[in-house]
Amino acid sequence: MIKKIIDKYIDTYFITHMGNKTYILLYKPYHPYEQTPHGYAYLNAFYPASNDLYFISKEIEHQFAEYNAVVYKGQLKKLFLDTKCAIFLKNCLVAIPPHGTRIALSAIEMDQLNVEEKVANFSQEDRICEGCKICSNHCPTGALKGGFSRELCLRYASDHPEDTSVDLNLIGKSILGCDACQEVCPYNASVESVPMPEDLLSILKIEDLIKKAEGGRKYLEELCHYVGNNYNRPGRILRLAKNANDQESRDLNDV
Ligand code: SF4
Ligand code: SF4
Repeated sequence: MIKKIIDKYIDTYFITHMGNKTYILLYKPYHPYEQTPHGYAYLNAFYPASNDLYFISKEIEHQFAEYNAVVYKGQLKKLFLDTKCAIFLKNCLVAIPPHGTRIALSAIEMDQLNVEEKVANFSQEDRICEGCKICSNHCPTGALKGGFSRELCLRYASDHPEDTSVDLNLIGKSILGCDACQEVCPYNASVESVPMPEDLLSILKIEDLIKKAEGGRKYLEELCHYVGNNYNRPGRILRLAKNANDQESRDLNDV
């Protein structure tokens, strides 16, 4: 009955019991987007997947309200690792085979239910990070040399430009997310890239994006539909859309 309800919303999840709680660990696999054409900024496909999963989580939370279900607010990666539902990688992300790191995560915590666990069937011994330096060699900022440095990672630096000496130009045309270490990771080898959906691409026309970000949050509503309210930050989008523009000029000069 419990699983039937969850299956209505998503089929990629685990169920586990810890302490006196039951956790439904949800993950949504996604395909990365191919590069965008000239004139358009780039957005990492993780963000639309994560936004979709947020709404799925809210639905499931609602369905199990009588068991005090809440969307989990703790550290998701830790929860997945503690319950052996993911593998920790050197680039500080977690992987769930066969989707690799191309997953958005969420979880629901609730009173303990009388339901059978649904556990991961991949081996925790399957650790190909050992002896591998591919991501470290491809990281544009050196954030993976000798362990993960959050301050040097473009995911962090693009949100905290005042806290970092990292050159934000290294993020290329992306207005959300750096993909370099995931693109080359063997865990992701079987996950194919797909073209960005046309309706999303149309929102990423750089000159329009700059004008909208200058106008403020209400002009970025269409983008917000894909990435959620938390990422509707005009200052950040403006900074990175201008960056994307500069990147295109550099690309043209290189031709
Ligand atoms: S590229 Fe290699 S070292 Fe880096 S996360 Fe992937 S498997 Fe691990
Ligand atoms: S997300 Fe980018 S900057 Fe951060 S560790 Fe990976 S490749 Fe380096």
